[in-house]
Amino acid sequence: ASNAVADHDKLSGKRVAVVGAGVSGLAAAYKLKSKGLNVTVFEADGRVGGKLRSVVHNGLIWDEGANTMTEAEPEVGSLLDDLGLREKQQFPISQKKRYIVRNGLPVMIPTNPIALVTSSVLSTQSKFQILFEPFLWKKHDSSSKVSDASVVESVSGFFQRHFGQEVVDYLIDPFVAGTSAADPESLSMKHSFPDLWNIEKSFGSILVGAIRTKFAAKGRTKSSPGTKKGSRGSFSFKGGMQILPDMLCKDLSRDELNLDSKVLSLSYNAGPRQENWSLSCVSNNETQRQNLHYDAVVMTAPLCNVKEMNVMKGGQPFKLNFLPEINYMPLSVIITTFTKEKVKRPLEGFGVLIPSKEQKHGFKTLGTLFSSMMFPDRCPSDLHLYTTFIGGSRNQELAKASTDELKQVVTSDLQRLLGVEGEPVFVNHIYWNKAFPLYDRSYDSVMEAIDKMEKDLPGFFYAGNHRGGLSVGKSIASGCKAADLVISYLESCSNDNKPED
Ligand code: FAD
Repeated sequence: ASNAVADHDKLSGKRVAVVGAGVSGLAAAYKLKSKGLNVTVFEADGRVGGKLRSVVHNGLIWDEGANTMTEAEPEVGSLLDDLGLREKQQFPISQKKRYIVRNGLPVMIPTNPIALVTSSVLSTQSKFQILFEPFLWKKHDSSSKVSDASVVESVSGFFQRHFGQEVVDYLIDPFVAGTSAADPESLSMKHSFPDLWNIEKSFGSILVGAIRTKFAAKGRTKSSPGTKKGSRGSFSFKGGMQILPDMLCKDLSRDELNLDSKVLSLSYNAGPRQENWSLSCVSNNETQRQNLHYDAVVMTAPLCNVKEMNVMKGGQPFKLNFLPEINYMPLSVIITTFTKEKVKRPLEGFGVLIPSKEQKHGFKTLGTLFSSMMFPDRCPSDLHLYTTFIGGSRNQELAKASTDELKQVVTSDLQRLLGVEGEPVFVNHIYWNKAFPLYDRSYDSVMEAIDKMEKDLPGFFYAGNHRGGLSVGKSIASGCKAADLVISYLESCSNDNKPED
């Protein structure tokens, strides 16, 4: 206990700037504040949440960014407990009913081997290839003499080796479009599915590896009861996802949370003095605030924004030109409502994804969430509310189309899928020009550049969805890890400054 008090003493009074009030920045700030540090959050926007944004309007509730999250990361479970969010957690009705379009019609995705055998999603040959994957999978041929990035294996190449092309076309392609707006050919396997990448390294077969990893995890949870909460799948909160960022910052004072405060420059000056970092930001009303001093910085702004910042080290410019250009996926999100009687074939469940191959049947959207089927409180009981995604790497131009054009596109796809008749009662359109960073086959260079930034700038830590995963849970975990690193860094600084006994 005396050690804990000593550590707390070392940290108290230390000042940390957190740039960005998305979930990663807010999770970092929450953790740092709970350890007794002074935190100041800077957010360019006038609100918290970043890619989490819920809207309440005329009896409707919808999410413009992330719609659901999971609890696969232990950091998420601890935060939900600490923030008292368990009672607000909302699990979708029939969340296991998820659909893929095949031959122009929605077909339920099989969730167990028996359902797979009877399902019409895949041909008999592909089913055989999945069940016998432990004997049939092929090794990756990395001996090709072409340039580096093309030797890096794509998501498509990896799953093709294990399960065949049809699985890539009808399961992997819609899944990656639905979770990252990308396509399996461009994505790097290592960065997009690191767990499966490592399973192959240890076990060869994905099926054998996944089963053995699952059993090992079951064994661990048996010996430590109470850690099974993660197994309940995706969830949201009553009132939408926004409650998560709102709760994360509820204890931050007005001085600790600066909205409309875009960070423009950062400067590091090494010295025995504390607070080696200074930071300047601009507010909406163009007043620029300079010379705010900190012991460490947690940066969670997207890398494209970091590249625009002016960074100084020891009075000299620290050029960020080693940060590679990142490809971002543009995406439009269209919310529609239809009266129930106008939806002739409503489907119960989570939603439907459309493989690119199915575009030949006239589909133009990536997929639709059955938002009010999952969460009936999202609209009055005589309506259905749908959330449809358009664009991504499959159709970057269409992502930018007008609300009117996208309304027609969505109505036409929902007509084919669910038999909707006529026009929607209500339409809302959100355009994200940089919805997701693309973890492409040159993403190793991005990770190396982030490592270099941290190595060359003592007390600077980068977190967020550009590192280690795109999901809300992974972003939270990334913010929490950055907070832990700040704490060890500040403890080691105060050990260095301690006079010799
Ligand atoms: P962000 O939320 O992008 O936060 C970064 C913050 O930094 C922003 O608020 C920005 O304004 C701020 N900023 C930028 N520059 C500066 C500056 N100079 N100074 C100060 N502040 C600055 N994930 C899921 O798990 N499930 C889903 O269902 C899901 N659906 C999604 C749907 C959409 C449409 C989108 C766009 C994303 C979705 N995601 C989903 C992904 C997930 O929402 C994000 O990856 C995650 O929320 C990112 O959090 P973050 O804190 O890393 O970044």
